[in-house]
Amino acid sequence: MTDHLTNPHPEKFKRLIPGMASWAGWGPDGMTCRHCEDFISNGHYSRTSHHVGAPKDGKCRVTKRYYGREGASFSPHSAACNKFVEAEKPFPLKA
Ligand code: SF4
Repeated sequence: MTDHLTNPHPEKFKRLIPGMASWAGWGPDGMTCRHCEDFISNGHYSRTSHHVGAPKDGKCRVTKRYYGREGASFSPHSAACNKFVEAEKPFPLKA
């Protein structure tokens, strides 16, 4: 049980998801990337998909700004990072 010695924020520590600007879970509690104004959505799945109407993976504007190229697409449900800026209108869960 040395977790507290190596990780100063164990309750906040989540993981680095490829494409995200920073560590997932370091943003405000309960917020996800779809709530962030820097999330670039790819729309929703069509009716012909298994995921009918659900939001597709998207990209992050901050990642592009930081690294000079687009990062990988990732889930809009990823826990927000510490670069989070709340969007006026979060990307909707359903089409
Ligand atoms: S919270 Fe915002 S800035 Fe952070 S990875 Fe998600 S979309 Fe990008």
